[in-house]
Amino acid sequence: MAAPVARTAASTAEPIIGVLNAGSSSLKFSFYEGEQRLFTGQVDGGSTHQRVTAAGADGKKITPPDLGERALNPPSEVLPAILSWAQARLDGRPLSALGHRVVHGGLRHSLPARVTPELLAELDTLVPLAPLHEPHNLAPIRTALRLHPELLQVACFDTAFHRTMPEIEQAFALPYAYYDAGLRRYGFHGLSYEYIASVLPECAPEIAEGRIVVAHLGNGCSACAMRGRTSVATTMGFTALDGLPMGTRCGDLDPGVALHLLQQKGMSAEQLADLLYHHSGLLGLSGISSDFRVLLKKRREPRARFAVELFCHRVARHIASLAAALGGLDAVVFTAGVGENAAPVRSEICQRCRWLGLELDETANCEHRQRISRPDSPVAAFVLKTDENLMIARHARALVSEVSP
Ligand code: ADP
Repeated sequence: MAAPVARTAASTAEPIIGVLNAGSSSLKFSFYEGEQRLFTGQVDGGSTHQRVTAAGADGKKITPPDLGERALNPPSEVLPAILSWAQARLDGRPLSALGHRVVHGGLRHSLPARVTPELLAELDTLVPLAPLHEPHNLAPIRTALRLHPELLQVACFDTAFHRTMPEIEQAFALPYAYYDAGLRRYGFHGLSYEYIASVLPECAPEIAEGRIVVAHLGNGCSACAMRGRTSVATTMGFTALDGLPMGTRCGDLDPGVALHLLQQKGMSAEQLADLLYHHSGLLGLSGISSDFRVLLKKRREPRARFAVELFCHRVARHIASLAAALGGLDAVVFTAGVGENAAPVRSEICQRCRWLGLELDETANCEHRQRISRPDSPVAAFVLKTDENLMIARHARALVSEVSP
């Protein structure tokens, strides 16, 4: 394996940053120089077969890392090969830091944190709060710490942006002791919201500091109420199941339904988790697909139409609820795969928000323009592309300059 890392980048003006986003069945990686993404890639698969893809700065395919027979899980298997591959593409320029997406930062972390053995031990205690994501997020951090203890690593938390939410947004109406014990609405997709907050002054200066609902509509979906570009409320709660319906997740659900399935229908906890995370949402409702591209094409089929309608209805209801938390509304921002690309979905949601003062410009919407509301609309609407990886790269870069100014 090539000796991949050194902390300072003497030969370049901007440090080189690697960004890793590790999930249960995929590992996504990107490498940045300043704001510029140099190359990116993804490993998909489980413990046996995997697919590796990579693309250059222009989005065109490049030769991906050769993983041979190595398995994705644990990521300790593939990470060294990815780092060696990246190093070879960097023409001798050193990697200055690795930034990681970590879904849960608990109560303590409202900012990204430098990885140390102590931080890892602390994050291990949060695994029970996000058992489906956190162990996968932490695995490559642990591997890199073992293989390259000198490399600066930065953990960036999806919960951190929402630490500004007031107590009344964070608490469930359970006995208060549960709140103290950490059973709270944490909120997720924070890196996406933070990125959107960072570009608002440039993209929409007239409303940037105002009352904004950002709708992150991708495979996972949530919405965030921002005032002064900080989070005051969000639809996801203790887990990434709550709030809006998603590709395969249920969103809002009367907890009595879960009790009924467990107590009356004899479902096991594992079966219930599988149902709520993997077989619900648009997939469960339509019986066809979790992908809006497919559902919009099949809109003539009643259940596909029903799933899309229910989704738009729920998103509009949540936008109104978040507007209530904000005490009014200046703008709605659509982002992520569905929000950025699915004009019919945006159109339907905006129609349902008309009573709030949102007047859609259909032409602008169909053309995916940045501003999709009419010029005289009391509530503006925008489409902004999110970039969680760039946000992570920025955080890692900031820590690099703190460590070696
Ligand atoms: P993730 O939450 O995994 O980051 P994305 O934000 O990339 O996901 O969103 C992926 C989803 O975006 C897809 O499942 C699909 O439903 C939707 N999508 C992507 N492109 C389009 C499109 N052109 N039209 C409609 N939906 C789209």
